[in-house]
Amino acid sequence: MSRIVIAIGGNAILNPTRGSPVEQKILIDNTCMEIAEIIRRGYDVVLTHGNGPQIGNILAMQEECGIVHPQPLDVCGAQTQGLLGYSLQQSLDNTLRESGIKKQVVTVLTQVIVDESCSSFGNPTKPIGIYYPEKRAQEMIAQGIKMIHDKKGYRRVVPSPEPVAIVEEEIIAKLVQEGVVMIAAGGGGIPVIRKKGLLMGVEAVIDKDLTGSLLASSIGAETFQILTDVEKASLNYGKENQVDLDEITVSEAERYVKEGHFGKGSMEPKILAALRFIKKGGKTAIISSLDKALPALDGKAGTRVVA
Ligand code: ADP
Ligand code: MG
Repeated sequence: MSRIVIAIGGNAILNPTRGSPVEQKILIDNTCMEIAEIIRRGYDVVLTHGNGPQIGNILAMQEECGIVHPQPLDVCGAQTQGLLGYSLQQSLDNTLRESGIKKQVVTVLTQVIVDESCSSFGNPTKPIGIYYPEKRAQEMIAQGIKMIHDKKGYRRVVPSPEPVAIVEEEIIAKLVQEGVVMIAAGGGGIPVIRKKGLLMGVEAVIDKDLTGSLLASSIGAETFQILTDVEKASLNYGKENQVDLDEITVSEAERYVKEGHFGKGSMEPKILAALRFIKKGGKTAIISSLDKALPALDGKAGTRVVA
């Protein structure tokens, strides 16, 4: 059996137009139908997912409510693993049952040890959550919250350190071995560090593509697939001379990253995640859109990073 880690992006799980719970469910069911097809093909699937919009919503609710005490980011991250894990787990369970595939689906609350010395702790640059109007943003800045200003308004920025190790990797690998469909390391994992051997949460978020790559290497997956909202990674993206990439080597990928072809915080971490997986001995790393997930596994769609 071939082991695969699939990382799905925000668009596969959250309606960009603030979908109602019913619309949300339709979106998740649709995503799970694609994942179920991959399971039907005989892959042992570990699913991981982003949480950007969801953690943003939790922060916005905390801030605007004004009654309850705001929770730290590791706790908010854990909440999103629960809410998305539940939705995906139930939907995937139902889809598999309807397809006559007898498999259990389990979500693991996953902690990820981050690099404490990462410069992002002193200089947070990862924007999360909603945009705030000037007045509210100034109040938040006065409270010590770090914000950046771009074309659309003010946004909170937080540290996004490098993922170093997955605390629950052994149990995830064991359950995959048992034939369980796993949902793990959601939202890039709950960021933690070890102090004198003991775990503690930190105020940060982790990139889900980089954690997905680490997860895939840690559990010895043959394939790492990132599903997003574009079919391929491109050079000169959005320009007249855009070139969509079918297959690139690790050294080409590194060169293209240096040349700045991939959006920071969007396509760049996907390329880095794919090439890290291959460098650590992984067989196949693919970036594609959700609807092209199967043809991409057959080499007929998406962008492949090869040794
Ligand atoms: P996800 O939620 O799936 O992680 P992101 O929005 O973070 O999705 O990343 C996917 C986006 O990356 C695409 O929608 C596209 O706009 C953007 N992008 C930036 N640079 C590139 C590139 N060179 N090629 C393709 N897409 C790119
Ligand atoms: Mg992203």
